[in-house]
Amino acid sequence: MFSKEKVLILDTDIKFLPGVGPKKAELLNKELSIFRYRDLLYHFPYKYVDRSKFYTIAEIDSTETYIQLRGKINRFELAGEKHKSRFVAHFSDGTGSIELLWFKGIKWVKERLKPGVEYIVFGKPSIFNRKMNLVHPEIEEAASIDKSLNANLEAHYPTTEKMKNNFLPSKAIFRLMQVLVPLVQDEIVENLPAYLRNKFKLMSLKDALVAVHFPDNSQQLEKARFRLKYEELFFIQLNIIFQKKLRQVQTHGFVFEKVGEYLNQFYKNNLPFELTGAQKRVIREIRADIGSGKQMNRLLQGDVGSGKTLVALMCMLIALDNGYQACLMAPTEILAKQHFDSIYNFLDDMDIQIALLTGSTKKKQRDFIHAALLDGSLQILIGTHALLEDVVQFKNLGFVVIDEQHRFGVAQRARLWKKNENPPHVLVMTATPIPRTLAMTVYGDLEVSVIDELPPGRKPIKTSHYYDSKRLEVFGFMRRQIAAGRQVYIVYPLIKESEKMDYKDLEDGYESIVQAFPPPNYQVSIVHGKMKQDAKDLEMKRFVEGQTQIMVATTVIEVGVDVPNASIMVIESAERFGLSQLHQLRGRVGRGAEQSYCILMTSYKLSIEGRRRIELMTQTTDGFEISEADLKMRGPGDIEGTQQSGIPFDLKIASLGQDGQILQLARDAADAILNHDPDLAKPINTLLNSRIKEMNRKEVDWGQIS
Ligand code: ADP
Ligand code: MG
Repeated sequence: MFSKEKVLILDTDIKFLPGVGPKKAELLNKELSIFRYRDLLYHFPYKYVDRSKFYTIAEIDSTETYIQLRGKINRFELAGEKHKSRFVAHFSDGTGSIELLWFKGIKWVKERLKPGVEYIVFGKPSIFNRKMNLVHPEIEEAASIDKSLNANLEAHYPTTEKMKNNFLPSKAIFRLMQVLVPLVQDEIVENLPAYLRNKFKLMSLKDALVAVHFPDNSQQLEKARFRLKYEELFFIQLNIIFQKKLRQVQTHGFVFEKVGEYLNQFYKNNLPFELTGAQKRVIREIRADIGSGKQMNRLLQGDVGSGKTLVALMCMLIALDNGYQACLMAPTEILAKQHFDSIYNFLDDMDIQIALLTGSTKKKQRDFIHAALLDGSLQILIGTHALLEDVVQFKNLGFVVIDEQHRFGVAQRARLWKKNENPPHVLVMTATPIPRTLAMTVYGDLEVSVIDELPPGRKPIKTSHYYDSKRLEVFGFMRRQIAAGRQVYIVYPLIKESEKMDYKDLEDGYESIVQAFPPPNYQVSIVHGKMKQDAKDLEMKRFVEGQTQIMVATTVIEVGVDVPNASIMVIESAERFGLSQLHQLRGRVGRGAEQSYCILMTSYKLSIEGRRRIELMTQTTDGFEISEADLKMRGPGDIEGTQQSGIPFDLKIASLGQDGQILQLARDAADAILNHDPDLAKPINTLLNSRIKEMNRKEVDWGQIS
């Protein structure tokens, strides 16, 4: 990114920056991974506030954006339970009045604010008790507004609670930038070739970095942000495509040229239903790949129940038709067993040798499997991580299926891949829908197939939203469903920071459920992370066997098995879950023949985002729609699956949710450049070449991800 020859100020340890020192340096290291000057330079504001603009209370008509008001406080009031749960300041500016609300730090605010003094307040309007208000606004006396910051567009920097408590709030970071930027700006060297900058009229890197911290106006800021986002996404795409082309040149795939007896026979005699249009299309896509001589690396996405296993099986049969073996790896023993059973049933009387290998396979059976794999008589192997062990050797492994891939690490996948001299074709299946923009980045070197259609006749899950005060109604509904023979999940959130409180919620919840559903008529199970494994297994077994009607749990992920008879999912404090999580939880029901229900419980106090999430859940069951929305609302770091994807996922400025278009531009440009100059050997691409080398020195090899 920067020229490497001489010692750069940019490489200086952050503790030497005037205003930092060892204590704050340690915080910056630990909280934000800022170690050197250059890391701080790349710590970008997450928002800018136009401090030149004041709103009047009369003109506030949306609760979407931050607003700044100038006015006075008329009176104060302590309200809520026993008159002390919230502090209300009635604030007016001559055009109207609005409530400022505090739920925490009441004593401090009460002592500090005075009626009649002119204040500038800043915050995001929301609705509480059917009135417009600002909750925990920033508030400052108009007379003492900090002139030293001297910026119209005030940059706000990401910080953490710890930093705020130790004199490193956003404003302090801004002050550090005021020291840093003049010190290092002359060292900033351009890293994009001129032809690319001209084509997109991109600002120089130096101008962009200065402007992103100290914008003169919003047009300039937009250009700076565009340049930085473009660059960030461009290099990721350039690297992905570079590695992909390299791999295509270096490796050859097995050619599965024919469809033979196995697939034909299966199609004619064993297939119990019509394939959906989406299944047919995906099988065609895969067939084109595996017949081409290229080694296939394909991601198969499809919601829970869309019929991925069948697609995988039919592809494995093509491998068998061409004289190769196939295997399928699942993340848990239960899932592996489920796959084995359903594939075993599908194959029925066909003359195909298939086995299950997991951690609990007995020694004798294990030895038998190892031998049969080596001599080629065992054609399909299904299992868990046990497949990765070195003793598991195939005669000629041609096709690998990996289910729910985000739970496998990169290194593990690479091991499976290395079981042959030539890499087998790899099909990765996931039920976590991933938006296109994200797929292009995280799985940029995989081809993507999508099953976007469920088999006919499925009853969509009915989702509804209830406030806590309507709990008795929900209980009544549960009773009727249980009387009709159904079972119920009740899930409580578990968030690390407040673990203690969450367990208390769970325990209180469990007790109130047992009171409302007392024995002997009802039996209630409970499963949570703090229980011993065998206690968990026992509770789970009781629920699976129908001995208990209600399962209370922290997250049903911990539960993990299919219970087709469970048709109701109640999610407590649903506003505290992310969209993907809610969708995954909801996917636990709707597996049997009965109409299924998902009930989202919340308190009245909902943030705007929280309310939007709940509304979206009640409106759609489409996993892709939900994941797109999730990406827009939360950013990719939080999307299920990306953290474990094993890819360094640290976008500093671009947002995959918002910047899909820039991503596409960057990807097209990278593609075109590499089509003309696959090795980046031409002089005009020197900058790009050295950047790619630098990236691959310190990052995971993207090209090896299967
Ligand atoms: P996934 O792995 O995508 O969650 P499965 O492969 O387990 O889904 O399929 C879910 C269920 O749907 C299975 O019982 C399967 O036999 C059935 N199924 C698959 N394809 C079809 C189809 N085309 N028509 C009807 N049922 C199907
Ligand atoms: Mg499945």
